[in-house]
This record gives sequence, C-alpha cells and structure tokens, in this order.
Amino acid sequence: MEKLTPMMQQYLNIKEKYTDCILFFRLGDFYEMFFEDALEASKILEIALTGKSCGLEERAPMCGIPYHSYEGYLKKLIEAGKKVAICEQVEDPKEVKGIVKREVVRIVTPGTYIQEDTPNVSENNYILSVCYEDKKGFFSLCHLDVSTGELNLSLVNEFDFADIFYKISPIELIADGRFLTLLKSKEKQAVKIRMFVESKNICVNPANSVEGSMEEHFFDRSYLEANNLYQEEYEQVLFSFRNLLSYIEYTQKVAALNISKIKWVHYDNYLKLDYNSIKNLELLQSSLDKERRYSLYGILNRTKTAMGSRLLRSWIERPLKSRKDIDRRLDLVEEGLREYSLREDLIGLLDSVYDIERICAKLSYDTVTVRDMINLKESLYHLPALKETIRRSRQESLIDAFGDIDPLGDVYAILEEAIADHPTGTIKDGVIIREGYNEQLDELRMLETDAARILSNLELRERDRTGIKTLKIGYNKVFGYYIEVTKAAHKNVELPLEYIRKQTLANAERYINEELKELETKILSSKQKATQLQSELYAAVKREVSSCIHRMQKTASYLAELDAVLSLSSVAADNNYNRPSFNERRTMHIREGRHPVIEKLTEDGIFVPNDIDLKDERSFMIITGPNMGGKSTYMRQVALICLMAHMGSFVPAAFANIPILDAIFTRVGASDDLSRGQSTFMVEMNEVSYILEHASKNSLVILDEVGRGTSTYDGMSLAWSIIAHLCEKVGAFSLFSTHYHEITEIEKLYSSVVNYCVAVDEREDTVVFLRKVVRGKADKSYGIHVARLAKLPEEVIQNARFKLDELQASHSQKKGLGSQPLPSYFESPRESGARDKIIDKLAEVDIETTTPLEAMVLLMELKKMTE
Ligand code: ADP
Ligand code: MG
Repeated sequence: MEKLTPMMQQYLNIKEKYTDCILFFRLGDFYEMFFEDALEASKILEIALTGKSCGLEERAPMCGIPYHSYEGYLKKLIEAGKKVAICEQVEDPKEVKGIVKREVVRIVTPGTYIQEDTPNVSENNYILSVCYEDKKGFFSLCHLDVSTGELNLSLVNEFDFADIFYKISPIELIADGRFLTLLKSKEKQAVKIRMFVESKNICVNPANSVEGSMEEHFFDRSYLEANNLYQEEYEQVLFSFRNLLSYIEYTQKVAALNISKIKWVHYDNYLKLDYNSIKNLELLQSSLDKERRYSLYGILNRTKTAMGSRLLRSWIERPLKSRKDIDRRLDLVEEGLREYSLREDLIGLLDSVYDIERICAKLSYDTVTVRDMINLKESLYHLPALKETIRRSRQESLIDAFGDIDPLGDVYAILEEAIADHPTGTIKDGVIIREGYNEQLDELRMLETDAARILSNLELRERDRTGIKTLKIGYNKVFGYYIEVTKAAHKNVELPLEYIRKQTLANAERYINEELKELETKILSSKQKATQLQSELYAAVKREVSSCIHRMQKTASYLAELDAVLSLSSVAADNNYNRPSFNERRTMHIREGRHPVIEKLTEDGIFVPNDIDLKDERSFMIITGPNMGGKSTYMRQVALICLMAHMGSFVPAAFANIPILDAIFTRVGASDDLSRGQSTFMVEMNEVSYILEHASKNSLVILDEVGRGTSTYDGMSLAWSIIAHLCEKVGAFSLFSTHYHEITEIEKLYSSVVNYCVAVDEREDTVVFLRKVVRGKADKSYGIHVARLAKLPEEVIQNARFKLDELQASHSQKKGLGSQPLPSYFESPRESGARDKIIDKLAEVDIETTTPLEAMVLLMELKKMTE
C-alpha cells in the first residue's frame, strides 16, 4: 500500500467499501476503472484496456469512459447485471493542492437505474423487498418503482404469493437468503430478477444517514395517520419496508423525495388472476411470439403518455371487484366515447405531455437533464388548456374526476422565465438560462461576445499592419489565444517586435502579444464567471421546481388516469364495443361476443360472434368439436370479455350482463403448451389441482383440453372426475373444452352441465368450420378431416381412415359391445357409491377379533353389495 501513489491509495480506500460494485472513479473528464474492474468492464463494454503506473512495478490495468457520455456504458453494465458505484470529485480541482477529495455519490443497480432517452417506458421496474413470517404464514411485500416513486405495501398469504410475485416480476429482489431457496426454479425462470440483495447485508450507518431521513418520515405514526396510511398491518410490513428504504438511501445517498405515492395494495380487493391466466389469455403479450401488439394490452393501449400506459397495464393486471369503482370507470369511458371532439382535443393535448413521473424521480435523485427540464416545461404548458377543455365539456363524471387538476402554472412560470426556448450545449459551455433572466449573467455574456468582436477587429488590424493576408487569431485549450502566421508568409515579412513566439507547428508559427494577452484574461474570466453563474442559477431553478414534486406527481397521476380512460374510449369507439352491466343473480349473458385480439387477425376479416348464456343452475359448459373449430378462441373470448368488464372497459359484444367474479382461472392442456419442459403433464395436473382448491362459486374456470397430455383412457377419466368435482364441490362458472366427445355423457348426470359444440358443416369427406357455438355435442372426432384440410397426402388420409375402421371394429369385438365405438366407460354415481360403501365396510373390520364365520358372512355381504 505504501508504495502506491497517493491517488491509487485513495482509489483502493474507496474501492474497499464497494467491493461488489464496479467503481467509476472520476479523473478529470473521465470515469476510470482499475484492476479487476477494468478487466471485467473492458470486456463488457468492448473498450481498450490500458495501464496506469501506480507506484508498483507493474502498471495497474485501467480502462476509462468520458464522463459526458457515460450513460450508454452504464446501461450496458447494468444490463449485464453489474452494480456501478459512481465516485465523483467533490472539490474543485482548481482550488486544492494535491489530491482532490472523492466520494461515491450514487450506486446504480438494475432496480435503481432510471433510463435516459426512453420516453415511453410502459413497464414498471420494481425493486421488491420480501419478508416471510413463517410463524404466521404470510409474506410482507414492499415494492417500489424508483423511476416513478410508486411504492406499494401488501401482506399476502402463502397461497397467493406465487401469483403476486409473478405479477410484480421484480427486477431486483431484497430478501433473506433463505428466500431464494424457497423460490422454485420454475418461479425463478418466470420473473426477470437481475439482482438479488441479501437483506442482512443492508445496513445503514446512522452517521452516514441522509439528512431528513426517510425513516423518520415513514415510521412516524402521526404522519402515517394523517396520510391515511396507518393500518393495523403496518407493523407487519415494517421490516420489509425498512429494508427497502435503507437500500434506497444506501444506493442513492439522498432521501428519495419522490417516494410519496405510498399505497396499500389489498389483493383481495381485485379480481384474482393467476399467472397462468395472464399468460394463457395473452393479456400482456402473445404467447407465441411475445409480441405485445397481439395481446389484450396491445389492443387496448392507445395511451399517449408513458404514465397512462403503465396505469392501463395495471388495470389489466388488477381488474376491480367493486361495482361502484367499476361503474365510475365505465362512466368516464362512456363520456369520453360520447363526445368525439372533446376526446380528440384531450388526446391531442396529452400527446405533448412527457413522462412527468420519471422527471420527478430524476429531480429527486438529482439526475435530471436539461432536456428533461425542457420536456417538463413543454408538458406543463398544455395543462391549463387541458383543464379548460374538461371544464367546458358537459361531461359530469369527467369534470368530477379531472376538473380540479392542478395545472402547475407557477412551476411552468419558473421554467419559462429561466430556461431558454432552445438551449444549446451543456450547462458548462452552452446557453441554458434565458437571456434577460439575470442581469449579471447577461452582462458577462455580453463581455464575451464583445470580446469576440474585438478579437476579429484585432485580426483585421494585424493583417493590415503586417501585410499577411493569411494571418489569423485562434484558440486552443493548452496555449490559449494566439496569432498564427504560416511559414510561407513568414519568410517574406518582418514580424512586429512585440510578437512573442508561443508554439511552433510544422508549417506555421504561433505568437502572442500584450494586447491579445489582456483580451484573453478578460474573455476567459468572463466566460468562467458566466458558466459559474449559469450553474448556480440552474441549480436554484431545479431546487425550486423540486419543491413542487408532490404536486407534480399528483397532477401526473390525474393525467395518467385521463390518458388510460380516453384510450379505452377510443378503442371502444373504433371497435364497436359496448358497455357491460352487472347482476347479482349469477347469470352470465353475453350476446354476439367477439375475441378482441383474434377478430383483428382473421384472414378473411370475418369473425363469427358467439353468445353465452349461463345461470346459477346451469353453469357448466362442455364444448366439443373438431380441432381448429374455434373452441379455445370462444372460451378465451368469454374470459376476456369478463375481464375487460371488470377493469371498467367496454367489451366486444352486442350485450353483456355478467356477475361480479372473484377470480378467473385458466388451464390449457399440456400438448397445447409448448414452452414447458419435460413433465408437462405433471405441471398440468398441479395447476388443475390449484384451481380445484382455489376456485369458488363466483369464479370463472376455463379448462381447455385438460387431460390431453396422457393416454386416452387416463386423460378421459381425469377429465371426467375433474368435471364431477367442479360440479359437486365448487359450482363455479366453468367452460370445459375437450375432444373426447364421450365426455358429453356427463350431461345426463349433473343438471348444471350443458353440452355445446362448435358447428361444422360436413360435406362428403371434408368439413367446413362454421365457428358457431351451438347446443349439442360432437359425435365423433374430426381428426382425419382436419388432416385433409391441412393437405396431408391423400394416401396417408386413406390409410388413416382404413386403420380407424379396423381399430373400432376390433375394439367392439373384444368388449362385445356391438356398434358402440367405445365402451360406456364411466360408472354411474350409483356404482361409485357402492364401491365407497364396500371400502367403508372393509375399513371397519378388525381382523384380530373376526372369527372365520364372521368373515364368511362379511364376504357374502360384500358380494351382495356389488350386485
Ligand atoms: P380449437 O381450439 O377448437 O382447436 P381455435 O379456437 O384454436 O380452435 O381456433 C382456430 C382458429 O380458428 C383461430 O386461430 C382463428 O383463426 C379461427 N377462429 C376461431 N374462432 C373464430 C371465429 N369465431 N370467427 C372466425 N374465426 C375464428
Ligand atoms: Mg384449442
């Protein structure tokens, strides 16, 4: 250590505290990385690895990036899953002798990274802090989007944890080390966690703690009560909340001013959507190509702001369960729909609004750029007009909801007054502060321009005086101002005596004289003063604007809601959606329903609408029919219409009257689900078991070809008993599609079951899909027909047909069941009752005390029971 240069010693002292980070060490205009960091970063960033003498024999490996364009490099490192500690010079190098003091000012991690230049970030990136209370059997969760300041607290029971975890899909996770081992590998895969932070490693040194620490704020009971945040459960999330806050303080080194939108999320208040439903219903992305365009979100999202698109997404993920809240949203959507020109005006205004939430975040972490400030100004400019437009409309709900939006005129005035309309350059070398804002600044700038004029006069005069037409006055960073004379010109002319040689180039000489020297001092000092003053003024503007962060956030959340509502209005208008209504009679009645995504994708542009009519006493629908008949589409469309209604959207149907549901469950049979690994059938059964356990009378259960992942008899029996269980024990609204047409027999056993099938028109050897769901059952599978449609060679088709006949014939012979294609396979409930009784009887027998005679009698009794 002693042998090292003082700077290297400083470096290592700092690095020691940040061993898990790549350290960006500020040296003049560069961030330098050394040793291991340099080796690692130069590979990731694809930049040259060099060396720096450090006092030891070998040079220290080094690589560096320019500080003014570090963003791209930082992003690359973060994406590679690294943490970066940014270490700045905290003193002005000009004012100190020796080594400048340096400090880490910020640690950037995947979850705390706020991206530049991504104006339309429609997804939230969450840091999640989890604590598991094993004794009480629940998880306390606290998740924060650093870039928007949205903080959510929740308590979640063990059953629901996995689904909620998927929904949050944190990018960074703070938890106990034990926790990761609890997460199954499947779950780990499904989320996008880039970084895991052991909660025990987070400790905030109280001495370092940030001024006005968030702790005091958030754990002060009176503050909490005043803000309606205090709840009995608060104590229970404290631990995970505290971990999260400490982590933010530790990484950001400033109190996060923008964390103000603290919310309790009671997942029970929302319609439950398990992970599979989000995936199977293709709510956020299509499952095949992961394209967002062909998902429900893709169809519904016409928002103009990033804030609106994030909110809309959360509406899809968390549909409402309260009729009052749903109706409020529907009212807003309806009003937006009703008045075309109002809607267009408002949408036009929203189009000019930038991501105010993110700008607030950057203000609070002091990473805001000049561009952001201009964007903020531009956004605020439109707010008074927006407010006025809403107030002038005659739409009551809209006025109620948004008429009181704070247009932030004062914040706009600050920005408008201070910031130039078209700023150029950076704070250091450009014009950011508007002319006329500050007299002293104007004067300094005048001096600068004045000097430029004097310089060009001087140049002309010297040309005249020396007779050298090519003489020019120039400037460079090292030598300052100079008079340049080419060597060629030099030969023929005697230069004035007061010219002092400064620098010799290959074909020119550079000089200076007294007058130029004086000018130089004047220009440089006014320039420096102007820069200094501009930075100060700009910092003051930032402070002033920052003091309004909470108001801006509030306005931002209004804008987000307005944007999301109007998006739903536009989609409803363009796609001919209608307002759904709700009932408490447990009837689900949809007329001419369509699938919101598939209707856009059909080749001929014709989508056949279908109805559904379920009642309390007839709530189970079995749907049979050939492959490609439209079963899956139909079932998903019912689920989507229900879901859209619960999120307060209009629906693709002529009419929809449905009950308030508590959950939507979907399961797609294994062979339809390609992305899963080996034990698909096991997964399928796991998920069905989850549904059977969690569904209630008020749930909607969609089972698409469940039981298909195993052999025919196996699968069929499972399907049968699953249906029986749902009918007897659960009573949920259920749609069950199957290509085992034998299953339709179950209609005779349960009054709640009704058979439907997708209609086909069978002509000669081919089928035409009519896409209509009608009463009745398919009486056979159409596999071979479909194969023909798929243009399998005719020979293969004929052979298959022949083989089918043969199989069916041999089957009937073996069982002696005449013409029936498959045996009546299932026992009636009476029979199964008998078996249960036999088993019960046997269980009662105590072998030790049973005499042989008693055993004989028992055997006879049992025999009788089987008859
Ligand atoms: P199944 O589940 O019965 O095999 P799908 O629901 O997957 O059938 O439907 C197959 C294809 O048929 C869909 O991709 C879609 O292109 C088309 N289709 C389904 N339903 C309709 C409909 N109602 N109107 C028009 N085309 C439809
Ligand atoms: Mg299907």
